[in-house]
Amino acid sequence: MTVVIVVFIILIAAVYFTLMPFMSEKVLARYQNANQDEYSADELKKINLLRQIKEVEFEREIGIIDQEDFHRVKSELMNETRDVMESIESEKTTAPKSAPEHCPKCSARVPKGSKFCGHCGTSLT
Ligand SMILES: [Zn+2]
Repeated sequence: MTVVIVVFIILIAAVYFTLMPFMSEKVLARYQNANQDEYSADELKKINLLRQIKEVEFEREIGIIDQEDFHRVKSELMNETRDVMESIESEKTTAPKSAPEHCPKCSARVPKGSKFCGHCGTSLT
């Protein structure tokens, strides 16, 4: 009887350790995917560019890239990062503006938060 229990425990342990790396990999992949979903394409681009800047700084530090290349590559990356960040910012600030409120009756454009349509006087509340 004791032998059966021991064999059973060993079997459980074997199955557990065989499946563990596979399971944790799956969980990790799902976690990474979930993380990516939270970022827009521009934000992912920004993260990628920042990573590249860090890389090129590291390459300079260990001396596998010369000063000239370093400055050229870094300024290119910085310019690209700035463009991406500006695009992210403008997306954030223009999003409400690009969807202006319209009067349901005459469909005239009305400033956000208006109580009445300035064109036909319809109550917007
Ligand atoms: Zn109106």
